[in-house]
Amino acid sequence: MSESKKQNIETLLAHDEQRNPNGAVVPPIYQNSLFTFESWDDIDQAFDNRMESFIYTRGRNPTVKQVEEKLAALCGGEKAQLFPSGMGAISAAIMHCVNAGDHIITIKNLYGPANNFISSYLKPKFNVEVTYVTGKDISDFENAIQDNTSLIYLESPSSAVFSLQDIEAVAKLAKSKGIKTMIDNTWTSPIFQKPLAMGIDLEIHSCSKYIGGHSDVVAGLVVGSKQEVESISLREFEWIGAKIAPFEAWLLLRSLRTLPIRMRQHQENALAVAEFLENHPKIQLLRYPGAKSFDQKELAKKQMTGLTGLMGFQLKTDDLEKIKAFVNTLKYFHLGVSWGGHESLIYAPAISYLKELSPDQFAGLGISLGDMRISVGLENKEDLIADLERALELI
Ligand SMILES: *Cc1c(COP(=O)(O)O)cnc(C)c1O
Repeated sequence: MSESKKQNIETLLAHDEQRNPNGAVVPPIYQNSLFTFESWDDIDQAFDNRMESFIYTRGRNPTVKQVEEKLAALCGGEKAQLFPSGMGAISAAIMHCVNAGDHIITIKNLYGPANNFISSYLKPKFNVEVTYVTGKDISDFENAIQDNTSLIYLESPSSAVFSLQDIEAVAKLAKSKGIKTMIDNTWTSPIFQKPLAMGIDLEIHSCSKYIGGHSDVVAGLVVGSKQEVESISLREFEWIGAKIAPFEAWLLLRSLRTLPIRMRQHQENALAVAEFLENHPKIQLLRYPGAKSFDQKELAKKQMTGLTGLMGFQLKTDDLEKIKAFVNTLKYFHLGVSWGGHESLIYAPAISYLKELSPDQFAGLGISLGDMRISVGLENKEDLIADLERALELI
């Protein structure tokens, strides 16, 4: 079929350009570690054109490449690089942007393991400095810039407290000072927010969440300009060797077919659940960009085209026995970490914090024992609400 106009996103993800061997509707997996050549000259040429050649799977693999091309187009970037986890992508991208002795500006409440990588690894080992900002006002970033600032690292909305940063304004500020920008865009998925079009250099995703969407893959993604991503591919990706397996990439190809439709349903379900929670007398507060009480509505409207299923709320009690009973009685919200899959989940941050912190330190966090995080899945929204309603009777 001739291409009369640019493909819409649903078509790009559901349809493959190339015809597969034997007319198979699903592409085969290239489950091989190396590729062989007809002649000396052929392998010689392959080495001269490393970014396009398949030589050894720690570098490039056809199954992985097929998924990366779809992901690059989806995010509006020139090039994408998949990793075996979101943290693989985050650590490689940070190391690409930062040298020993440099300074990073990021947000308070940054995703925990990313924060640990910066503050407990890069800082002591490579003398990297870090400044944490609230990030709701552009002046937070302006005031934090130093001569050695080489990276501003955003997460908007943050997956911990759901606060936003003005992506376009931060990208503009950073560009004027020659500072690189990256954003963890996992919360919105590539469907509802396009940071590269707003001037961000590198967009990161944990594909273990919405992009994978079936809770059967752990993977990560970096997207950006050809020059930037190829540099990461040839250095941090190949040399540190955190390569994605062809099978995991193939699962992501499956996942991408339904990403737009899944995201629309996550949004519909989450908005219904959010409205129910916000109006319930046993709920103290709802942390969600779709909440009536959300304080950054204008900015959300400016830079996001939709909302997803991860939100926080606080039960109106500090009675740990009642809180445990609430969690334990839920039928459809299973207790577990992570989020973004087909299944609804619940987690209480207190479960982790009570192990790591003293009661005084915990009190200083500004969250309570009754703070919950839920990931609203693809079940029927009335069933989900009925489940929460029944459990809330125990509070
Ligand atoms: C899960 C997560 C990551 C890390 O991804 P992994 O695939 O688990 O390594 C990064 N950022 C956010 C916001 C996440 O939720």
